[in-house]
Parts: sequence; structure tokens; C-alpha cells
Amino acid sequence: MVDKRQEGQQESLLGSEVESNLRIAFDQLSHKVRILLFTEKGRNDVVNQAARDLLRAFEKISKKVELSEFDIEGTEAKKRNVTSSPTLIFEPDRYAIRYLGAPFGEEGRTLVGMIMLLGFRMSNLGPQALKVLSKIDSRRDIKVFVSPTCPYCPEQAVNAVKAAIERPDIISLEIIDIQSNQETAERYSAFSVPQTFANDVLIAHGAQPEELFVLSLQKLEQQTVFIPDAEGELIETDVVIVGGGPAGLATGIYTVRSGLKTALIERGPLGGQIAATPIVENYPGFARVPGKTLVDILVSHALEYVQIFQGEEVLEVKPGAKMEVQTNRRKFLTRAVILATGANYKKLGVPGESHFMGRGVSYCATCDGPLFKGKRVIVVGGGNSAVTEALYLNNINVYTTLVHRRNALRAQEHLAKNIFANNMEVLWDTEVVEIRGKEKVNEVILRNKRTGLIQPLPVDGVFVAIGYEPSVGLAKTLGIELTEDGFIKHDSNHRTNIPGIYSAGDVEGGYKQIVTAMGQGTEAALSVYEDLMHPYWAADPEAQKAAKT
Ligand code: NAP
Repeated sequence: MVDKRQEGQQESLLGSEVESNLRIAFDQLSHKVRILLFTEKGRNDVVNQAARDLLRAFEKISKKVELSEFDIEGTEAKKRNVTSSPTLIFEPDRYAIRYLGAPFGEEGRTLVGMIMLLGFRMSNLGPQALKVLSKIDSRRDIKVFVSPTCPYCPEQAVNAVKAAIERPDIISLEIIDIQSNQETAERYSAFSVPQTFANDVLIAHGAQPEELFVLSLQKLEQQTVFIPDAEGELIETDVVIVGGGPAGLATGIYTVRSGLKTALIERGPLGGQIAATPIVENYPGFARVPGKTLVDILVSHALEYVQIFQGEEVLEVKPGAKMEVQTNRRKFLTRAVILATGANYKKLGVPGESHFMGRGVSYCATCDGPLFKGKRVIVVGGGNSAVTEALYLNNINVYTTLVHRRNALRAQEHLAKNIFANNMEVLWDTEVVEIRGKEKVNEVILRNKRTGLIQPLPVDGVFVAIGYEPSVGLAKTLGIELTEDGFIKHDSNHRTNIPGIYSAGDVEGGYKQIVTAMGQGTEAALSVYEDLMHPYWAADPEAQKAAKT
């Protein structure tokens, strides 16, 4: 057998296709991007090596990336006050942007995004965000805590990079990988990612659209609503899809293939719940696929057809023959709207849960699990999510106990049997009545439902995986009828009670599988196409009345 390495054909770290795409992108940059890498032998050696390998591979790809390596004991590190290993400093003569850790895994997207923005020396912020940022008149020192397994983190990290590029006069940024900076994460009690601090004040849990990020930065507290102060651009389409999970993405492929001009709007990261699912085993055609990989495949496919407006939030929909959809950036005029807004994590609703959110209480094992390596956690729930997450945590050396309120799992047999095959502890007939701690979680109070016995269990983390609630905020403000369980009420063509507005995916209820969500999206898309060809409301006086109001 030929040893490729001997022939100088060693497999590249990034893969030849990725390398060639990056080369094309980097070669177009208008400026070189200087990166300084500081490492200390004996501290985080594995991560140091990963950072070195990654950045050397990037430098080899294009002359536009320039890497200099330093030892933390040296004068350069002292001059720049570097103490953490590894530390990356980007374009130090212009900006104050640091990365503490190695930007691999999901964080590769942050690194690429950062190089592109720095190489063009532009923030790429939209006009609304720029307006808010220009109003900030005092220093902001930002820290964004991230992890390589978190699909939501690059979104928030890049928001912060944009702000630091736009206002280098007052903004400094540290992106901190919690796995290689556990002490700092503990000091900030940052046990879920992404978490953003400015001037040591927590300003955001999770990823935000850029407008909300800069507003939170301005106000120094988390903002949840952004009202644009002027009307942005106007776009005319046939269909607006709200939501970029599997249902929305499938819908977009089908509407565009039917010849309908379509805009897909997603306020957060694309992919919905699957983005945070460690492994998917029941998506036909893929025996076992990491959720994030499946999202990347779906998104690339959808992008071949549909224009995606990511990081945009729909603020208002005005129904009518031509509907107005107002987002935080622009207005769409459209003939149909499809709500594929999905579902959100269900909360336990016990004392301590909200207080310790991000301080030991988590809803995303993929994102936050690595922080609990060697620690003790419980996963609450007995369905597919709880079992998948418990197995994932157990697999990365987190001492995991499953806590379930009944004496049998709801999860599919195929998944459930792995819990027993791995000898994992399960507390049956047990409910969590309180989550306690000081700075962070240190115990849960459990109640055995059969015996009534209440007792504490010392834990470092609580992963809640008890199902999802439909995201119907927008539907409610529109006056769309809901079922008794709170899902969007719809007919077999996915029409809601408001003519021209449709639903698809988990927001409709049903089996809540990836394939069923995509099937619902496909049906909704085809139904919209039929209706736009032959409007059903034209023949129905009641619907006509509703469409006009
Ligand atoms: P689920 O199937 O609705 O299960 C929720 C679990 O949480 C149930 O065991 C339920 O207990 C428990 N629960 C609900 N409320 C609770 C509370 N207040 N306190 C304590 N326990 C509570 O939800 P899911 O597991 O998130 O799954 C949602 C959907 O996604 C399902 O259709 C599932 O099949 C799908 N999914 C599939 C996969 C996969 O195939 N790999 C992975 C994840 C999710 P009871 O059993 O007593 O009701």
C-alpha cells in the first residue's frame, strides 16, 4: 500500500474542497489579515496544537492570511498583556479583537467570518444596527463565551466582531472558548453558550439578530425587541416563509421550484431544533448523521433556490390581498405567508429554573455539555430528546442520571435500550421540585411520586429535555386560531383561518419528526401554489371579507 504521506500527499486538515473554497474567498480580500498566536507549553497543549494546525493551514491556503507565533513567556506577550493559552490576536494595529482558545468545530465559522470582515476592513452591519452603534459614546469591553460544539455561537461571535470592527475607538472584544478557559467561564458563571457580557454585565443569553445585539450593547442589558426607526427597503414576493427549520427550508425549495418568488425569514440560526441534536438516526437516507451536518446539507440545498434573510425578525404582518410583512430591516409585500415558526424548549416551571438558566440549567446538551465533563448532571425527561441528550453527555464523560416522572420511557425502543446498555442511572417516578445553588447550580430537590419522599441530589447541571412548545407568538398577534393544545389550527391544505396565511411543521403539532415537518412544508408550498393560481377565497364571500379586513 502506498503511504500518501511519504509521497507528500498528506490529507489536508480542512479537506481539499473546503480549502479551495476558502482560497477563492480569501484571495479576494482587499487587505492582508495579520493573526498573532500565543501559546504556552504545558498549558492546554492539545488545544494549542489544534490552534497551531488550524492557523498554519489557513496561512497555507492564501497569502492574505499572515500568521506569527509567539510564546507566552516572551516580550510580545507581555507587551500585549496575553495570559491565556492559546490566544489569537487579530489585526492588532487597528482593532482590539482576541480569541481565547482554538476556533475549531462550529467556531471555524467564526474564524472564517472574522477573516473575511477584517480582510475587507468592513463591519457589514446593516443601516439599523449602524445607527444604534453610532449612539454609543463610552467604552464597551465585550466578552462572548462560546464552545466548538455550539451551532448558535458563531452568529453571536460574528455580531461582536462586526461591532468591534465598526467602532474600534470604543469597543474591544474577547471571544472565549469555555472549554479551554474553564476558570474564566466559572468566574463569569457562564455555563451555557453563547453568553455575552459587556463591561462585565451580562447582556445576552443566546444568539441575537445584529440589531438586538447592538441595542443590548448600547443599553447594557438584554433587549428582546428592536423597532426600526425608519422604513427600510421594500421587496415584492409571492411568498414569505417565516422560519428556517426543516419545514421552512423544504417549503422554500418547493415554492421556488413552483415558480413562486419566495423570501425565507429566520431570526436565529438556520436548522431549528436539529441544529442542536447530537445525532439523528431516523432521517431516511442517512443511517446516523450529526444534526448540524444535516442542517448544513439542508441549508445548502435550500440556498440553491430560495433567498434566505437570516437574522431578521418578523415584527408585524398585515393581512390582505397584498400582505405587508415588516421585519427589523425591511418590508415585504407578498401574496402568501407560511408560518413555519417551529417550537421552543418547554420549561419545567420549578423554582430556580429561570434563575440558574445559563448557570447550570441548560436546554442544549450539544452546546453546553462539554463544560460538564467529569461533573455530575441530571437530564430531565423520558422522550427521544432526553434519551438522545443523556447518551451524548454520557459519551463525553459527563456523569449523567436520567430523571423521569414515570416508570417507563416514552423514547423509541431503539434509543431507550442504549441507556440500559450503557448502565446509565435512571431515577424513575421522580420529579424535580426545585433547583438550588449559589452562584451556580449545586443541587436539585427531587420527589419520588410513588413514595412521596423528597430528597436533595448534589449536581453541577440540569439538562431539561421535556419536549417543545409551539412558537405561536406571531400567530397570536395576527389573530390566527389555535387548537386547544396551543398549535396553529389549519385545514388539510395547511390554510389557517386567515386567507393567504398558511402553517407548516412543528407549529402545527402532529408527529414532530424532521421528515414530517418537511412533508408539512412541502404540502403547504404546493397548496399555496394551487391557491395563488385559483384563489379559494375568490369564491367564498366569508373568506373574501376576512382577506379585506
Ligand atoms: P416528548 O416526546 O414530548 O417527550 C417529553 C418527555 O418529557 C416525556 O417523557 C414527558 O413525560 C416528559 N415531560 C413533559 N413535561 C414534563 C414535566 N413538566 N416534568 C417532567 N417531565 C416532563 O418530547 P421530546 O423528547 O423533546 O421529543 C419531541 C418530538 O421530537 C417527538 O416527536 C420526538 O419523537 C422528536 N425527537 C426525535 C428524536 C429522534 O428520533 N432522534 C430526537 C429528539 C426528538 P411523560 O412521558 O410522562 O409524558
